[in-house]
Amino acid sequence: MSNGVVENLINELTKLPGIGRKTAQRLSFFIMGIPEDEALSIANAIIEIKKKARFCRQCFNITEEEICSICRSSQRNKNTICVVEEPSNLIVIENTKIYNGLYHVLLGALSPIDGVTPERLKINELVERVKSGDISEVIIATNPNTKGETTAQYLSQILKPLGVKITRIAYGLPIGGDIEFADEVTLSKSIEGRNEM
Ligand SMILES: [Zn+2]
Repeated sequence: MSNGVVENLINELTKLPGIGRKTAQRLSFFIMGIPEDEALSIANAIIEIKKKARFCRQCFNITEEEICSICRSSQRNKNTICVVEEPSNLIVIENTKIYNGLYHVLLGALSPIDGVTPERLKINELVERVKSGDISEVIIATNPNTKGETTAQYLSQILKPLGVKITRIAYGLPIGGDIEFADEVTLSKSIEGRNEM
């Protein structure tokens, strides 16, 4: 085996978030050591997700259908939208089982310095949903860090004129943190203790 293919895999793996060169090397050597069918099943899972998974047309959650199971469910409260940055944030909030409304995934957070302007996020789509739906409350559950706060302030400004109640999750989450790494108790408390903006 030439060094080229190993180097290639290491380079590809470092493109993943949170994977530095050392970890990429360790993963590459691990993959070299496992049976071929196991390695191919990892590769296939990546191919399958790109082929089959897509974003829900309404809320931008990840789904295999046009509209995700949460948006389609008749059991959910359709008057509330919880706004999150990423589909992974939606999953942790779902796991708390405390929230029974709808979601809206922005697919990022505002960061003008990195070129992430409102048009780059699913903000227009959110405004349209609030305008056309029977929405009484929008819970802003962006991350409690600079980008998340900037996004929350911006959303509050543009949604308030639409006459909808805007709340922001607050209690319990560490400043500068990431919702994805919060435990369920902390996250439950911050949803219960949300504040109107
Ligand atoms: Zn959906």
